[in-house]
Amino acid sequence: MACDTDVVIVGAGVVGLATGLAMAKRGHETIVIEAEATIGQGISSRNSEVIHGGLYYPTGSLKARLCVTGRRLLYSFLDKHHVAHKSCGKLVVATHPDEEPHLNAILKQAQDNGVEGLQLLTGQQARQMEPELNATAAIFSPLSGLVDSHGYMGALAGEISRHGGAIAVNTPFAGATPIKGGGFAIRTGGDAATELTARYLIIAAGLGAQKAAASIETFPDSAIPKLHYGKGVYFTCTGKAPFKRLIYPMPIPGALGTHYRCDLGGQARFGPDLDYVDTLDYSVDKTRAPAFYETIRRFWSSLPDDALVPDYAGIRPKLHGPGEAQPDFRVDGAEVHTLAGLIALFGIESPGLTASLAIGEAVAKKLVSN
Ligand SMILES: Cc1cc2nc3c(=O)[nH]c(=O)nc-3n(C[C@H](O)[C@H](O)[C@H](O)COP(=O)(O)OP(=O)(O)OC[C@H]3O[C@@H](n4cnc5c(N)ncnc54)[C@H](O)[C@@H]3O)c2cc1C
Repeated sequence: MACDTDVVIVGAGVVGLATGLAMAKRGHETIVIEAEATIGQGISSRNSEVIHGGLYYPTGSLKARLCVTGRRLLYSFLDKHHVAHKSCGKLVVATHPDEEPHLNAILKQAQDNGVEGLQLLTGQQARQMEPELNATAAIFSPLSGLVDSHGYMGALAGEISRHGGAIAVNTPFAGATPIKGGGFAIRTGGDAATELTARYLIIAAGLGAQKAAASIETFPDSAIPKLHYGKGVYFTCTGKAPFKRLIYPMPIPGALGTHYRCDLGGQARFGPDLDYVDTLDYSVDKTRAPAFYETIRRFWSSLPDDALVPDYAGIRPKLHGPGEAQPDFRVDGAEVHTLAGLIALFGIESPGLTASLAIGEAVAKKLVSN
């Protein structure tokens, strides 16, 4: 049976858009459907906008491989499409000799992951780069950087359209039924509710991925991982930004730790922390500030009192609860859920922005060879 289109992708965040581009570039007629009125209103607009080197993730994991490959693809895409970014570099700092074994383990992990250009620095060498920094030792990652995520998503959308694809906003995915012989009958809701058929269906719905998967007939419940909301808040810093590079403390369980960045507009920001929550509430609780002062003062002791101002929050689509091991990205095909022609992405938390182009390529390769 001929389908209305080759591919429908649910979700127009960085991952859905990058995947849309990977499919459209391969000549597949592609439609990205998005529930909101504009692209990129989900996790992709509530993050640190850091281009990660790929240091921390277990070697061979999707996070490690797609972050390193994705970073390389991302810099080249941003250069080509004149999207604002800078490879400002990052320092991961040990602020006490007790932390140095952990720092050395991160360095070894990063080298095993193929991260380029890393240097282990003494505290003195780190202070030559950043005079206000407290550090007994540090890793310098020169290829870590910052990106204008909205500029990036705009460029992805432009490229999808240049390759003949389309993005339909205000178009919530309402469910799908597998068609005998191949493809899916897809239902959309909203004001212009409709039905269309597609040969391939990709769920890139971020925090909505589990709900979207559950609305696909015969998608096994056992193949839908439990979703946990991992909230992280940010504070801005009044006054002059103290550091030129990204400054990261030692990672904490489930997150990379409250870090410093001077964003592309010159604003100093700290965050995100990690707090498991039950609702999608993006307010920033002022009472989290004392923990921020404590963490930041370990690497920047002259942070003035009253310098931190509540900023914004993001919520990670976590697949693990507090105290549980942090799992890998899930790029699930028929081998997991039995539905040929369908890929469901779950748990695309950090470094999903950095990895997005590589995730898109991985999905396209997996689907087309299905
Ligand atoms: C606090 C925080 C900090 C982070 N920092 C970084 C960082 O510095 N660097 C990095 O590399 N990564 C970072 N990440 C991770 C990164 O932001 C995400 O991995 C990435 O943005 C996920 O993109 P996405 O497209 O999967 O999800 P989203 O951007 O959420 O896109 C999913 C889209 O699907 C839509 N949708 C949902 N349900 C439906 C439906 N039924 N029908 C139609 N549309 C639907 C949503 O509206 C949304 O637009 C961070 C994440 C968080 C939370």
